[in-house]
Amino acid sequence: MNTVSQHEGAAPFVLIDQDDEPPSCISSFFGAANELTSAPATAPGAKRVMRMTPRIRAFRRVFFPEATDAQWSDWHWQLRNRIHTLDQLRLMVNLTTEELVALQQTSGMLPAAITPHYMGLVSAHDPDQAIRRMVIPTVYELRRCPGEADDPLGEEGQSPVHGLIHRYPDRVLLLATDFCSTYCRYCTRSRVVGQGDLTPSRERLGAAFAYIASHPEIRDVLLSGGDPLTLPDEQLEWILASLRAIPHIEVIRIGTKVPAVLPQRVTPQLARMLRKYHPLWMSLHFSHPDECCYETTRAAGMLADAGIPLGSQTVLLKGVNDSVGTMKALMHGVMKMRVKPYYLYQCDPISGSQHFRTTVAKGVEIIRGLRGHTSGYAVPTYVIDAPGGGGKIPIAPDYVTARDGTDLVLSNYAGGTFRYPDTATS
Ligand SMILES: *Cc1c(COP(=O)(O)O)cnc(C)c1O
Repeated sequence: MNTVSQHEGAAPFVLIDQDDEPPSCISSFFGAANELTSAPATAPGAKRVMRMTPRIRAFRRVFFPEATDAQWSDWHWQLRNRIHTLDQLRLMVNLTTEELVALQQTSGMLPAAITPHYMGLVSAHDPDQAIRRMVIPTVYELRRCPGEADDPLGEEGQSPVHGLIHRYPDRVLLLATDFCSTYCRYCTRSRVVGQGDLTPSRERLGAAFAYIASHPEIRDVLLSGGDPLTLPDEQLEWILASLRAIPHIEVIRIGTKVPAVLPQRVTPQLARMLRKYHPLWMSLHFSHPDECCYETTRAAGMLADAGIPLGSQTVLLKGVNDSVGTMKALMHGVMKMRVKPYYLYQCDPISGSQHFRTTVAKGVEIIRGLRGHTSGYAVPTYVIDAPGGGGKIPIAPDYVTARDGTDLVLSNYAGGTFRYPDTATS
C-alpha cells in the first residue's frame, strides 16, 4: 500500500504547520522505561492512546489516517510505507525547485527514502530546517566539487574481502548490508549504500567470517552498512553468532541510525537476542536534537537496559548542527538517553557534499564551547577521517598556550590563565 493512494479521495486536507509542535519531547527516561515492562493501567473500556511525539502524531493523522497503532509501531509497516517518490513528497512538503529537480533525477544518485516516523519530524514549509535538509535531496548533491571523491577514505583499497575494511591492525569494519531505512544525504558510504551490491548473503558474509577467523590479531568487529539493524532478527543473530564463534573476537560493535529513524525496530525480542552476544557495543548515529524524541528515547532505553554500552556518532553539518548551542542540545539529548557522545566527525569530502561541509575551525570552536562548559561526558572526540585511508585523526583545541621555563602556561575553558609546574624528569 502506498501513502499517496491511501490518501487519494479523502476530503481535502489542510497542511498543518508541524513547526507549531514543540521541537522535541524527551520524556523522563524512567517514565519511558517503565512502559516497556508494564502496560499502562487503563480503566476497562477506556481508549488507550499510544504515546507519540506530538508533531509525529499530527503528521500521521494527516497522511496516514488509516494506520492503526499496531501498524504504525510495526517496523515492517514503517519500511513498507517509506516515503520515496516525488509524488509522495510533493504531497507532504512544499518542495523547492532545488529539491524538485533533484527528485526528478532518478539514476546515479543515492536513493531517497524516509520512514513515516522520521518524515513526521520534517518541516513541510521550511526548506532550511535541519531534519529536512538531511533527508530530502537537492540539486547541490549532484555537483562534484574540488577535493571530493566517491570513496575519499580509500575503503576499496583496504578491503581484502568484498564489504570488509581492514584499516587498523586489531579491528575491522564489516558492511552487513547496503540497505538503510532512511538515506542521509551526506552519507559517507553513498557509493555503495542502497545499490543492492552488498547483500547480507551467506556466501559474502561467510567469506568475511573466514578472513576474520584466519586473522587472530582482529579482536573487535564493527558491523555497519547500510544499517545492520534493518536485517531481520534471525539474519542479524546468524551474523552475531558466527562472529562469537571466532575465539579471538573480544568485542562486537554495531553502528546504526535505527533508533533515530526507525525506533519501532527496537523491540523487546531484539533486545533479548542482542544481549546474548555480549560484550556488544553500539554506536548510534544522531545529527540533531529534534531526533531525541519520545520514540527514540524509548528505543535507546531498551538497548541500554539490555546492557549494551551506547555511544553516539554525529557528523558536523553546515546549517544543521554547526553551532555550539545546537551541538550542546544534541549532546545533552543523547546523554539523557544514556548514550555517551563518542565521535563528532568532520564531514567527509564525499562527492556532492560541499553544501554540508563547514570548516575545521568551526568544529574546534564547537568542542571549545563544550569542554568545561558542560559535563565532560557530553564532549565527543572531534575527528577527521583522513582521506586516503589514514583513519580517524583527533582534532582538539589547544589549551597549552606557552612553556615558560619548567612551567606550562595553560588556558582554561573560561579563558583564565594557569600554570602547571612540569618539573618531573622522565
Ligand atoms: C571508524 C572505523 C573503525 C573503528 O574506529 P574506532 O576509532 O575504533 O571506533 C574501524 N575500521 C574502520 C575502517 C573505520 O572507519
